[in-house]
Amino acid sequence: MNTLKLGWVGLGNMGNPMVMNLLKAGFEVTVFNRTKDKEAPLIEAGATTANSPQELMEKCDVVITMLSNDAAVKEVFESPTGLLSKEYPTKVIINMSTVSPETSRYLASSCSTHNVHFIDAPVSGSVKPAQDGTLVILVGSSTTDYELAKPIFDVLGKTAIHVGEAGVASSAKLAINYLLGLNLQGLAETVLFAESNGVSKEDMLNIINAGACGNGITNIKAPSILNDSYPAAFALKHLVKDLRLAKEAGLDSPLIHPLFNSYAAAEKEGLGDQDVMAILSSLKHKQ
Ligand code: NAP
Repeated sequence: MNTLKLGWVGLGNMGNPMVMNLLKAGFEVTVFNRTKDKEAPLIEAGATTANSPQELMEKCDVVITMLSNDAAVKEVFESPTGLLSKEYPTKVIINMSTVSPETSRYLASSCSTHNVHFIDAPVSGSVKPAQDGTLVILVGSSTTDYELAKPIFDVLGKTAIHVGEAGVASSAKLAINYLLGLNLQGLAETVLFAESNGVSKEDMLNIINAGACGNGITNIKAPSILNDSYPAAFALKHLVKDLRLAKEAGLDSPLIHPLFNSYAAAEKEGLGDQDVMAILSSLKHKQ
């Protein structure tokens, strides 16, 4: 039995399985989601519900946020019934959403003025690792806060890497998602090029994944390419957000601009709520 009382805001594709793992590990978890029906499977599994983020701060030792983007996180922190509606000495907030390094530093500073400890802890890994408890957690915080949160990270991930203060972890997250975007754009372009020259996508995926160019993500995405079906594990709109944040944080490399334009065009074509691998559908229609 874990004695830390946890609160959780944001039960989307990632938040839901992450909370499920905390419940299975014996944590007492109270949840708040804007759309209430997403709380149902967790309440069935033993979670309790709160009426506001503020109520989570009253009841819990540590509150975790897993929300879409910077605006959603700021709203949940700053609304009149938000996490920082009062001072909460000794309480801890962990933001696991992907936001800009600037927003992470801003949240750390706002927390500090409310006597709240803040941990910047975005994750690498999608829905399957979230279900399996094998996320890679990037942590920006004081060493003391990192040690306090470690039992939580041990349930949610296979490793937690303490990279520095708040903001540094968000920078690391934007960097790894740039590599993710490159990988999937490259995979899509390669499969389409091969197909247009008479190589089936089955054969091309086998060639990629049997050789040195295959990796975790090319293996994970192979079934969706074969089925030409892209239900969201990691929604394409979230990658567009992350590439935009990387550009705003100073990434100005040869590939970031065409990469961003490619995913942004796919979002404009209506693929934002599909999985990020739907970039292949967007490119296919341009051939
Ligand atoms: P998601 O499925 O789109 O869920 C987003 C969550 O944010 C939902 O609970 C949503 O509530 C809530 N939300 C959005 N705007 C809100 C607002 N203004 N006020 C209150 N709640 C709000 O997203 P996800 O895939 O779980 O991703 C969450 C975060 O993790 C994102 O920052 C994403 O970039 C990052 N991430 C995702 C993955 C992945 O593979 N999915 C992997 C690594 C990191 P409703 O239910 O009411 O809409």
